[in-house]
Parts: sequence; C-alpha cells; structure tokens
Amino acid sequence: MLTVEEARDHVLGSIKNLEEIEVPLLGSLGLNLARDAVAGNDIPPFDNSAMDGYAVKAADIATASPESPVELEVLGDLPAGYATATVVESGQAIRIMTGAPLPVGADTVVPVESTRAGDAAKVEILEKLPMGSHMRKAGEDVKAGETVLAAGTAVGPAELGMLASIGYARVWCYRRAVVGIISTGDELVGVDEELSPGKIRDSNSYTVYGMVLEAGAEPLRLGVVGDEAALLEHIILDNIDRVDLFVTSGGVSVGDYDMVKDVLAKLGEMNFWKVAMRPGKPQAFGHIRGKPLFGLPGNPVSVMVSFEQFVRPALLKMMGRARIYRPVVTAVLDSPLGRKTGRMEFIRVIVEWRDGRYHARATGPQGSGILKSMVVGNGLALLPKDVGRLEAGTEVTVQLLS
Ligand code: AMP
Ligand code: MG
Repeated sequence: MLTVEEARDHVLGSIKNLEEIEVPLLGSLGLNLARDAVAGNDIPPFDNSAMDGYAVKAADIATASPESPVELEVLGDLPAGYATATVVESGQAIRIMTGAPLPVGADTVVPVESTRAGDAAKVEILEKLPMGSHMRKAGEDVKAGETVLAAGTAVGPAELGMLASIGYARVWCYRRAVVGIISTGDELVGVDEELSPGKIRDSNSYTVYGMVLEAGAEPLRLGVVGDEAALLEHIILDNIDRVDLFVTSGGVSVGDYDMVKDVLAKLGEMNFWKVAMRPGKPQAFGHIRGKPLFGLPGNPVSVMVSFEQFVRPALLKMMGRARIYRPVVTAVLDSPLGRKTGRMEFIRVIVEWRDGRYHARATGPQGSGILKSMVVGNGLALLPKDVGRLEAGTEVTVQLLS
C-alpha cells in the first residue's frame, strides 16, 4: 500500500504546467500569474492628504490649542485630482481634500475637525500636530520597481485592484485547465430519471463539477457510463483533444467488474493503487496520450476526499499556482474521534473558532457513502495511520475545506 504522501508525490511529479496566455486584466480573475508583477510607479505616486483639512507647516501650529488657536492665511482650495504650483510659506495654509497632492512647503495636514473657519481667507487651527500627520507618503504602499505579486499568485479581488493600480491592462497567466468528468456504474441514473430497483442517482459528476470549478478550472461533464467498455473508451478518445485532465469515478476497487480498469489500462499507462487512506483506498492514476487521468473510487465521500488530496493539488499545479494545498490548522477535539484502521483517516469535522482557538467535532456517521458528512462539515481532520483514535481535548490537524 502507498502512503497518501507517496501517491501525491508521484502524481505531482508527473504534472506539467499548461501554457501561458496574455489576457485583459478582468480575464485574469481566478487564474494564476505566470510572471511576476512589478510596479512601474510608486503607490501612491505622490505625497497626498489622508483627510479633508488644511495643508500647513507643522512648525506654524506648534502652540495651537482650542484656547489659543493659531490663525493662518488660506491661499486657496485643492481638490483631489489636481496639483498646485502655489507654495505654502510660514503663516499660510491651503484647504486640501483627501487624495490631493501635498503642496510644496506643506508638511502636515490638519483635519477640518481640528479647525475653525473664519472668513474664506482665514482659518484657525485648534490642535498642534506632529509633522507628517494625516498624510500618505509617496510609495508607502508600493515602491516603483517592487515585485508586488509573484508568479504563481492566484488573482482575486485584491490582486485585481493591485494589478490595476500598477497599470497592468493585460496580464500573463496560465490558462484554465479543462477537466473531463465521467461517472461509471450500471447502477447510475441521471438526476432527471426515475429510480428503479437497484438504481441510484449519479451524484459524483456533480460534486466533481463543483470542485473543479472551485479550483479555477473548467469542468465538462462527459456523461454517465454503465459498465460498457466500448462507450467509456469512446468518450475518452472522443474528448482527448479538448480535455487537459480526466476524472472518472467508480469501477477501480478490487471487487469491481474490471471494465473500467481494463479500458483505462488499454488506453494508457495507468497505475492501480491501494492508498493507505480512509475513505478512498482504491485509486487509479496515469496518463492517456499525455493527459493525466484520475480514476477515483465510486463512493461519494471517497470521491470528494480523493479529489481534495490528489486532483485539486494537481490541477492547481497544472494551472501554475504556487500554493497548491488547503490551509491546515490545529484544532482541539470536542469529542473523541477515529478508530485504528492502519490507514490515514480523513474525518469530516465541523471546525469553529471559539474561546481563542479552533475546535473540531465529527459530523456524525463517517461511512464513505454518507455525503451528508461533506455537506455539514467544513474540514477534514487528519489522523495519521498509527494514531487511530483520539480523545476529546486532544489537538488534531485539520485541513480546512472552506
Ligand atoms: P465502485 O467504486 O464503483 O465500486 O462504487 C462504490 C460505491 O459508490 C457504490 O455503492 C456505488 O453505487 C457508488 N457510486 C458509484 N458511482 C457513483 C456516482 N456517480 N454517484 C453516486 N454514487 C456512486
Ligand atoms: Mg462501480
């Protein structure tokens, strides 16, 4: 039996990056940067006001207080978006709006709340302030020449804004992977079909669809295949040119009719593994004409857990993501967990933050067919194979799923 790490290392070792593409800025949302993003200018580009108020010299207001205000001459108004050539000399001020560049000679902004306006040409300052108060220095966010986003970064809302602020109208990213999804099993019927004796509805192609999309890739549901070799072969070969990676479910466990295994073995170089994990022991992985194929076990929870451990990191690596793993936290158990099975256990838990730390408790029955455990849970507690059972109060490592 392979350990989870061995299986994952083997998988990841064979995954290659997809091509780089240049996309309009908005098109990069959800993709991963193929190149470092380097600022061509400071952000902010100039010293500017952080408040609506008066641009002054700090030395002029060193004695100001509500009881003895300092009166300054107001030279004019400076809204955001404009610069002024007017120089602030001693005894003078310019009325300034948030975001407007600091005029030459001024070194401090007094917020309007700390002033009393007289006639338009005069203002009383009611508070002394240290030099540099209420202003934003040029380059305080980003310095020109700085790498603000490294290659491999996922573009989310903040990254989109950062790229915009450094003038990246077009961005080099890795393209999205297209993932072909196939469910196998004679027992399966479609979501819109009636159940008859012995039949269940195919749910795996939907969970996989969702997980693929959530990983930033493009899912293609290619069909539900009964245990008919010819059809499975046909679907795989028919789609091989438009798909970057296949995910099948079902038909890879020891007791299964060998149809799926036979077809996969015939079409490409496939490994049929037993991985020391629960759920998800039987796994198939290999390549068909250069396209990775993951043969996941059929049980609904096994599919999701194996996808999380193997397919998701592989997809992210393929699409150029630097951080390919889910965040992991330490949580204290609110109830005992697990039993000794000689395999690494992925127990579905509810994780919450309480009293300054993470707490975890099992979602309930942990059978590999209990899809409800994935609906209710938001994490997978990882119990190493030699641990088996943990008592309430012990600390456990939890992979966060959301
Ligand atoms: P298998 O790995 O093919 O032996 O399937 C294991 C279990 O998972 C069986 O109980 C199947 O009925 C169930 N199963 C297989 N494929 C699906 C699917 N696409 N949706 C829901 N359950 C499935
Ligand atoms: Mg089956």
